[in-house]
Amino acid sequence: MNDNSGFALKKSHSEPGPGDGGRTGSWRVLRPVLDLEKCTPAKKNKKACFLCWLYCPDGVITKTVCPEIDYEYCKGCGICAEECPAGAISMVEETVIIMQEDQ
Ligand code: SF4
Ligand code: SF4
Repeated sequence: MNDNSGFALKKSHSEPGPGDGGRTGSWRVLRPVLDLEKCTPAKKNKKACFLCWLYCPDGVITKTVCPEIDYEYCKGCGICAEECPAGAISMVEETVIIMQEDQ
């Protein structure tokens, strides 16, 4: 991207990756679960909204149709669920999900 001066604009966005903390998703107590029937880009099948991508402090949500969450690095802060205008993200206890997976 260029501004009017012709200089390339630098992006502030960085990709998540392994750091000193390792796979930080293992710290998570609550998991954000996406309901694609409520998510705007999924429903309209086009790029729209992406407030979850914008606000996620760890950059672990994709800006794609449909958005995807990288649970290896998501820490479960719940900001995405708070910011989603469509109520498409629910924070679910990890223990509940583990129990469901075991059944
Ligand atoms: S819970 Fe937090 S870290 Fe995980 S996807 Fe949502 S905003 Fe990002
Ligand atoms: S903020 Fe909500 S509606 Fe918007 S892209 Fe994310 S999950 Fe979908």
